[in-house]
Amino acid sequence: MSNLNEALAEAARVLSSASDVTLLGHVHPDADALGSALALGLALRRRGATVRVSFGAPDTVPETLKDLDSAGLLVPASEVPAAPEVLVALDTGSVSRLGPLADRVTTAGAVVVLDHHVSNPGFGTVNVIDPTAEATALVVLRLLDELGAEVDEPVARCVYAGLVTDTRSFRHARASTHLVAARLLEAGVDAEAVARPLMDSHPFGFLGMLARVLSRASLDASAAGGRGFVHAVVTLEDAAGLRPEEVESVVDLVRTTAEAEVAAVVKELSPGRWSVSLRAVRDVDVREVAQLLGGGGHRLASGFTASGSADDVVAALRSALETVAG
Ligand code: MN
Repeated sequence: MSNLNEALAEAARVLSSASDVTLLGHVHPDADALGSALALGLALRRRGATVRVSFGAPDTVPETLKDLDSAGLLVPASEVPAAPEVLVALDTGSVSRLGPLADRVTTAGAVVVLDHHVSNPGFGTVNVIDPTAEATALVVLRLLDELGAEVDEPVARCVYAGLVTDTRSFRHARASTHLVAARLLEAGVDAEAVARPLMDSHPFGFLGMLARVLSRASLDASAAGGRGFVHAVVTLEDAAGLRPEEVESVVDLVRTTAEAEVAAVVKELSPGRWSVSLRAVRDVDVREVAQLLGGGGHRLASGFTASGSADDVVAALRSALETVAG
């Protein structure tokens, strides 16, 4: 724990003396990645630093996360300097998760890593990695306190967005994290206004897509050592006209299957290229499964990318699942 405190103090020293800071989330950023980057970015901007927040892919900001950027800190990846003065990587468990911006880790003057992935190798010059934190946003909040930054509503909203999503609406939150949530609400966060667009709101077309995708879902109750495995495939055709947010939400329904400890959604990124989301209820470490397939994540939520046919990808996944939980 003292190592973590020392790392926090060192990160605060680096950031408080920096005049230009580039904050990056992982590719296909979620609310924890961008909320964390925007909360810290806002605090640094107020201290007078030049601040930009970005991510390697895709080219557009997820629609549901745009509202968090109250100060206009987000820039396209093409506007990230070739050699940033200070780079901060947030919620990014490995260099490769920075995608096309991964090379900035070698060109930057200093690299601060703020994360909660247990698998993070510590690729920064300063590494604040707390695997006990339910969200990177909690690590950022500790850093904001270390910096003496004001946590008012625009900052608190960004922290809350990361926290409410990564804890699945606080179901995976420790008692102390509920106290953090209370602090954020007292700062003025409107919990429903932040959470509903992130977790509970989709265009009507989502229902038709779900009907098609879920009708093809498949359950193997004997897989994962008899604990059960359910999966669904979302093709580009299924997802046509919908946002990435709709595709990302499919797993939240597939995972409700009572007969399955492990759930997977296989999503087509481009013809023959797939991104797979894995979820476990309690017993199976799906981070281990994802790591066998070149991915990563957390014990109960992980992912990887793969090429081939959907059947190939599912076969490889079943094999890795047998290795870990057979
Ligand atoms: Mn996270």
